[in-house]
Amino acid sequence: MGNVLFTNVRILDGSGANPVPGSVLVQGNRIRAVGRSTAPISPAGATVIDGAGATLMPGMCEAHTHFSWNDAATLAAIQTMPLEEHVLWCAKVAKKYLEAGFTSCVGAACAKPRLDVVIRNAINSGQIPGPRYLAASQEITVPGGLGDETLPHLPFPEFSFGVNVNSADEMRKVVRMFLKYGVDSIKLNLSGDNFTPQSPSETAWMSDAEVAAAMDEVRVRGKRGTAHARSADSVKQALRHGIDVIYHASFTDTETLDLLEAAKDRVFVAPGIAILYAMLNEAEQWGITRAMATDMGYQIEWDNALESLRAMHKRGVRILFGGDYGFAFTPHCQNARDLEFFVKYLGFTPAEAIRCATEYGGQIMMKGNELGLVKEGYLADLLLVDGDPLANLAILRDPKRILAVMKDGVFAKSPEIASERAWGRAA
Ligand SMILES: [Zn+2]
Repeated sequence: MGNVLFTNVRILDGSGANPVPGSVLVQGNRIRAVGRSTAPISPAGATVIDGAGATLMPGMCEAHTHFSWNDAATLAAIQTMPLEEHVLWCAKVAKKYLEAGFTSCVGAACAKPRLDVVIRNAINSGQIPGPRYLAASQEITVPGGLGDETLPHLPFPEFSFGVNVNSADEMRKVVRMFLKYGVDSIKLNLSGDNFTPQSPSETAWMSDAEVAAAMDEVRVRGKRGTAHARSADSVKQALRHGIDVIYHASFTDTETLDLLEAAKDRVFVAPGIAILYAMLNEAEQWGITRAMATDMGYQIEWDNALESLRAMHKRGVRILFGGDYGFAFTPHCQNARDLEFFVKYLGFTPAEAIRCATEYGGQIMMKGNELGLVKEGYLADLLLVDGDPLANLAILRDPKRILAVMKDGVFAKSPEIASERAWGRAA
């Protein structure tokens, strides 16, 4: 792995600070020097990349990723993809995420028991390209809850999107199975979801005894619990049991917000609001009109989610971007759209939105002291971006504007040779 010196770049360090002109030296897989001025850093044998005024920023982290969602419109269509094709699909998606600028992804559940683990291991061993990845379990649910897709006339659990448990003992058994496979996190479906009308978002499903059994096992193995929790009761349940990553958190009350604030140094909220937006506004071609989506409860959830998330943001709760891309309505790799949503609907500044994907990204990846910032000593996960993301966040979802992607000191997407200055300076 060669050393690389980026010169003539605008350094957006990912902390929320304003960008500064300068140069950045990468040695091996670490950022060795950050020169915050136009004064040159000695290349010392490094390959020099002249950024020509482009922005150099940390690689982005997607906090709520489902590689195995296959851009289908139903849970059943995701689940019934044969295993062999499914593995290939996940490998393809992992590469796509990395090239789109996501150098880290947090797995938030996969569709078959070992998909996430196998893909993570293949990335880590260099068999396939992909982001740094934390592998999740399948969704764990209870009969009737979100993810229980078992059919009364076809008693085959493999048809179910989530794994069903029906007692604390069954929970323990299933969690141990996933831990044996090597997952980084166990995903529990604590609330329902408007996508499944028999178990809508505002309902909670799992008993405290079941959640406690899961978290017992998670703690024994030093792993992490994550929760699908849309209802206020389910968010409270997640907090009560020490679950660190809360997905959605659409419905809150004052008590829930107080509890979230009290746990803000431990807890991450990754709401995945794009799916709510898409169901209301963009799902008609899959047969879901705005009127139908409203009937399903999406308007009420959208309104509540915006209010809840704005309140969390004001209270300093870490809200991370990404989530539930991989459905027909929210295809993979449009994820950076969330940054625009955070500004437009949640009251974030553009710099705060980027920080959700960079500094907080390093933290949710459990590498808060070495990942997610352009900073001396940090891991060299970097993007070279044509233009100023603070002026126009949409450039972060335009592949042409992502000039280069570096992960762990190695280019996953190589820049044009510096002297050619192939890119412009457009905002
Ligand atoms: Zn999800």
